[in-house]
Amino acid sequence: MFDTSPLPHYFSPEHEQFRDMLRSFIASEIIPNINAWDEACTFPRELYRKAGALGLLGLGYPEEYGGTPCDIFYQIVLAEEFARSGSGGIQASINSHTIAMPPLLAAGSEEIKRRVLPSVISGKKIAALAVTEPSGGSDVANLRTTAVRDGDHYVVNGEKTFITSGMRADYITTAVRTNPAVKGAAGISVLLIEGDTPGLTRTELKKMGWWVSDTAQLHFNNCRVPTRNLIGIENQGFKLLMHNFNSERLFMAALAYGFAQVCLEEALDWARQRNTFGEPLSQRQVIRHKLADMVLRIDAARCLVYDLAYRIDRGVGDPAQLVARICMAKVQATRAMQFCADEAVQILGGMGFMRGTRSERIYREVKVMMIGGGSEEIMKDLAARKLGF
Ligand SMILES: Cc1cc2nc3c(=O)[nH]c(=O)nc-3n(C[C@H](O)[C@H](O)[C@H](O)COP(=O)(O)OP(=O)(O)OC[C@H]3O[C@@H](n4cnc5c(N)ncnc54)[C@H](O)[C@@H]3O)c2cc1C
Repeated sequence: MFDTSPLPHYFSPEHEQFRDMLRSFIASEIIPNINAWDEACTFPRELYRKAGALGLLGLGYPEEYGGTPCDIFYQIVLAEEFARSGSGGIQASINSHTIAMPPLLAAGSEEIKRRVLPSVISGKKIAALAVTEPSGGSDVANLRTTAVRDGDHYVVNGEKTFITSGMRADYITTAVRTNPAVKGAAGISVLLIEGDTPGLTRTELKKMGWWVSDTAQLHFNNCRVPTRNLIGIENQGFKLLMHNFNSERLFMAALAYGFAQVCLEEALDWARQRNTFGEPLSQRQVIRHKLADMVLRIDAARCLVYDLAYRIDRGVGDPAQLVARICMAKVQATRAMQFCADEAVQILGGMGFMRGTRSERIYREVKVMMIGGGSEEIMKDLAARKLGF
């Protein structure tokens, strides 16, 4: 296996201690159960509390809300180690707050932060982000869910779809149109909608992968949401949502090469053990080339993510170029994941098609990584525009 030992200018001994702790949590709490949970399409809610107790849900949040301030390399470690579980679904659910809570932290009132963040960070409550609608997810500026002011409430009507943790969420950070007269980004706001709000109903969705993760369509029918649950300034929510996407995309890129690495490891183990025509598969040049092709894609994606994390951490570089390269990193890493999942299943042969191998699951989970959080087409187009093409 190629050398993946941590680089000291990116990862300190403290990062590595955190990695060890996380690795043993995932090895003891998730890996032994993940096949059964995936088949059952659910996992115990208790896992949030366990993750919360270890401080995994509060990374990057101030201590006053129960969090642990940290640099971006802790987030990279979080993604890399969660990928070792071989399940995108479990990480998507456990970490759904990582896309739902940043708008609250950035722009929520002190009252909301104190009320919501500690309960989510400790794993007592679950948070989801609801942006995508049945009419489209890429074109966020065109969203149709309305929130019309009525005294000290907004009345919310509309639908959101494909929402991770949507069935379980106690708090739903929701993108709404507060000014229906204005088309496009200008009339959009962010509202925190509580899970027990009358008029909110949910429908569970069945999926190609991420079975263990709940994914829902949310229906808002005259939901009355207190105006104090507005996050940031009315009609200025679009920027808040866009800013949120950058960290989500870098995190997804780290996850993607992490999953690719799991496929590589499973394929390499198999190739060493499996004999055909009197020799291990790993002795065949055509198989060795497949493995080498996997390594080069993983390595390229990993190096790009580390370089970007370093630049973000140090505040180096033009912000527009950084956004462009984050988009590119997501594309490159998810392509590496797709390539490696495909080649790993091929190397495993019929076994790669069987439920229970990690490569089989990751193969089913590739497309959501290439679509969710900004699809490949949208990523390339945004990158091109940011680069001034
Ligand atoms: C399992 C899962 C979990 C998800 N979790 C969440 C969540 O928690 N919260 C949330 O808000 N959303 C979530 N999503 C939604 C996800 O972010 C969207 O699916 C994604 O943004 C794409 O939107 P869409 O599916 O509506 O596709 P569309 O926007 O309809 O696009 C369809 C296809 O057309 C392409 N396309 C669109 N516009 C253009 C263009 N201008 N030029 C070229 N090609 C274009 C797209 O790339 C895509 O390939 C989730 C999705 C899945 C599958």
